[in-house]
Amino acid sequence: MKSHDIASRWVDFFASKSHTPVPSASLVSSDPSLLFTVAGMVPFIPYLTAREVPPFQRATSVQKCIRTGDIDEVGKTVRHGTFFQMCGNFSFGDYFKEGAISYAWELLTSPLDAGGYGLPAEKLWVTVYLDDEEALEIWRDKIGVPADRIQKMGKADNYWSTGQPGPAGPCSEIFYDRGPEYGIDGGPAADDTRYIEIWNLVFMQFQRGEGTGKDNFEILGELPKKNIDTGLGLERLAMILQGVENMYETDQVRPVLDKAAQLAGKDYTSTEDPKDPHHTDDVRLRVVADHIRSSLMLISDGVSPSNEGRGYVLRRLIRRAVRAMRLLGVETAVLPDLLPVSRDAMKGAYPEVETDFARIARIAYAEERSFLRTIASGTARLEEAVKESKAANTHLTAAEAFALHDTYGFPIDLTLEMAGEAGLAVDESGFRALMLEQRQRAQKDAKAKKSGHADLTVFHELLAKGETVFTGYSELESQGRVR
Ligand code: ATP
Ligand code: MG
Ligand code: MG
Ligand code: MG
Repeated sequence: MKSHDIASRWVDFFASKSHTPVPSASLVSSDPSLLFTVAGMVPFIPYLTAREVPPFQRATSVQKCIRTGDIDEVGKTVRHGTFFQMCGNFSFGDYFKEGAISYAWELLTSPLDAGGYGLPAEKLWVTVYLDDEEALEIWRDKIGVPADRIQKMGKADNYWSTGQPGPAGPCSEIFYDRGPEYGIDGGPAADDTRYIEIWNLVFMQFQRGEGTGKDNFEILGELPKKNIDTGLGLERLAMILQGVENMYETDQVRPVLDKAAQLAGKDYTSTEDPKDPHHTDDVRLRVVADHIRSSLMLISDGVSPSNEGRGYVLRRLIRRAVRAMRLLGVETAVLPDLLPVSRDAMKGAYPEVETDFARIARIAYAEERSFLRTIASGTARLEEAVKESKAANTHLTAAEAFALHDTYGFPIDLTLEMAGEAGLAVDESGFRALMLEQRQRAQKDAKAKKSGHADLTVFHELLAKGETVFTGYSELESQGRVR
């Protein structure tokens, strides 16, 4: 079953259960506290927090998501994309635990010709929050899942809240067992490679009080109106239904992987084993396929490369894809070959990537060209610095990283990555201190010059546009994940 058909089947199923289909919102989150839409529930936050009255009691969607927090997992695990689609069903004060659990089970296990996904019941495992007897009983007694395939989990895994006072509640998750050839027995608590999390059911039941982190807060009481928020990863279900090894091999991603392999003259082998000699190249090919698609979808939703915020995330994705291709041996521009392949894989579900392709391509290709120029100018200097530092038996100094940045426009993440590949550490905090000093100097200069006579507006504008502001990192790191 193609990804697009999995999505339509989802919407059809929930529409048949009186859910209003709601089109995906933009990746650029409507919630100002988030850089991106990170889950299907994000567009519904005003309803879930009771700030607004929902126009429906039940809704369903297939939401485009970006999770930059998962970027380092991409290609190494089988299940993490920076872009993915979250299928969801939502109840605003309508059905609760029993409804959500019954729908999920029915959709996953009903035969294909009855509108379901036809998964064998004996391959499914579930987890519940350790205090949630109600959910446990529904799974065991009403649905009939054997007790030994239901596992209790703690707050870190199975309790949801926004991290602030507001709605909170236990979760119940559904996992698919890929079989003994993928790992050890013992269910999702024992092995997250063999047992793949596919669906999270969140029961928004309580009012959370003040506190910190995921497990240190008080529960003030029950919510007057309880909500259901669920999310199933479309790519994860696709990987199971299409019988492939990981989400990068599903129909919307694989064509880019194949094209990248062809450009690089590599044989992709699907290996998950870090000890396998093909592993490094396979991971790079999966990274390329993932990042190219994420870049396509981000630009399509109006993001442009820049040095901060969302634009910085996009810049980083494009640069990482280009870097991965270089490490695979391709040093020329690759986006003109890869991006159209991603467009063709995605246009069935998102026709706008085709109709708007000229604009998307212009932005993406310009970014790659500028990055290739940066690499050309800085690499020799970096290599020299690495050699000298190694000979002197020290790390790469802050001053050197700063010079690379200041003179060659070499971004610190590239310095870190390339130095890391050469087995060398970098004085990153020293670098950041130097950046801060430079910024403060520039601000002081700008103030001093303001009192002079010449018209310096144009310089101030240049300064404002220059590569001196690196808020991207802190924003990346502080980007909270909702669930
Ligand atoms: P994991 O533990 O595998 O990282 P999660 O618990 O962070 O997943 P949730 O926040 O519960 O994921 O999101 C709901 C569903 O969305 C998941 O069950 C999964 O199917 C899917 N999903 C989450 N993150 C990703 C991702 N980076 N790529 C693809 N699918 C994802
Ligand atoms: Mg996760
Ligand atoms: Mg999880
Ligand atoms: Mg989860």
